[in-house]
Amino acid sequence: MNISIFGLGYVGCVSLGCLAQNGHQVVGVDVNKTKVDQINDGRATIVEKDIDAIIATQHLLGRIRATTNFREAILATDLSIIAVGTPSTAQGHLNLTYILSVAEHFGEVLREKDGFHVIALRSTVMPGTCEKIAAMIEDRTGKTRDVDFAVVSNPEFLREGTAVHDYYHPPLTLIGTESERAASIVRTLYDELPAEVVIAETKTAEIMKYVNNTYHALKISFANEVGNICSSLGIDSHEVMDIFCKDKQLNISKYYFKPGFAYGGSCLPKDLKGLQTLAHDLYLQVPVISSIHRTNEIQMQRAIAVLMRHSHRNIGFLGIGFKAGTDDLRNSPAVELAETLLGKGFTLKIYDRNVHTSKLTGTNKEYIDQHIPHLSRLMVQDAEELVEWSDVLVVCTKEAEFVQVLGEASNKIILDLVRIQAEIDPANQYIGINWSQDA
Ligand code: NAD
Repeated sequence: MNISIFGLGYVGCVSLGCLAQNGHQVVGVDVNKTKVDQINDGRATIVEKDIDAIIATQHLLGRIRATTNFREAILATDLSIIAVGTPSTAQGHLNLTYILSVAEHFGEVLREKDGFHVIALRSTVMPGTCEKIAAMIEDRTGKTRDVDFAVVSNPEFLREGTAVHDYYHPPLTLIGTESERAASIVRTLYDELPAEVVIAETKTAEIMKYVNNTYHALKISFANEVGNICSSLGIDSHEVMDIFCKDKQLNISKYYFKPGFAYGGSCLPKDLKGLQTLAHDLYLQVPVISSIHRTNEIQMQRAIAVLMRHSHRNIGFLGIGFKAGTDDLRNSPAVELAETLLGKGFTLKIYDRNVHTSKLTGTNKEYIDQHIPHLSRLMVQDAEELVEWSDVLVVCTKEAEFVQVLGEASNKIILDLVRIQAEIDPANQYIGINWSQDA
């Protein structure tokens, strides 16, 4: 199939590479010229396991290219995927600026295009967004939805850090549409994936990511509260959660049930807030959902309290991304922790291979420039230098390389926020603060 993808960030870049790898001809479209150039040079726009090789190979095979020319991309394809950002406003409402700006191009170009064109919204959007876009396109083009074109909800379930793996092993494929024709076209995109395909009403599919991410945040916060109780009693909370998940009546997966640090990232906090705001707008009381974020804040305060108990001032951060395997710093709890500590007069250095080897041109670069330019000056390129300099090491992401780094940092105080200790050879234990014992 000839496919266009709008937005070449974390979701767009992975979809571009993986769809091409499955044999499709794919053109990426972005307003960011640097990202477009990167794809046309055969380079990925993000840091993510396996994506560099996929983009390089598919570029060599001539299956992918990128452009800033929306018109040309829409005319050259019959299926378009929208993967632009959908940030929230300060109040938690969906900011539709980027989505609507892409939709306007369809409102212009589809007027002159023959044939059935499917627009699949991969971005996370509130119920009613596909309807809004379809109405706008009908209004501008005089064409009829589900006859000349269709706007379909097709939420993305990948997780950064394992995005390529998740693309090929999704928990499900969800297609929200009232058009059978559109459903069968979108379905063919994922024919080779080993996942159940669920066709639902558009609005149902649209709300699913909010529900999923809210539940993930709830699981993390529940596990963290259990973890805090267990640590006060000297009980291994991870063992407790492992046993908990064995209860067949619960039939619940272990994912996200790992007591530890606060959650973060570009999706969970945003989508949780989105669902909460939606409930508020509907005059509904949702005390369970509303308190999840409070638990997360408490988890952050506990980490700060542990560090404040020590008089050492030089703190080295191992990892600053919101999780291992990604350069994405948006809403990273490690960033919040670092900023709080700087405000309290600590001196910081930060090591994160993903961030300093990142392309520093994409989403990550924009985020650093706009939100945390002061932290980029604290980055060091060498983990050994960081260990040497630090009084206290704070482990914020579970990068495999940190296991060795920590194994050689036996004289340091270590705040292990991700339980990397469990990965370290027991014969080579370090002395330090273990989150589950001291926090
Ligand atoms: P991102 O910020 O990494 O990428 C968005 C891209 O869209 C950027 O490259 C930006 O330049 C581009 N863009 C902005 N305006 C544009 C326009 N008018 N036309 C073309 N391109 C434009 O975002 P992301 O993390 O890939 O997330 C995209 C969407 O997918 C969001 O709705 C997000 O909630 C959802 N999602 C993200 C993940 C994830 O793990 N990142 C997972 C599932 C769903």
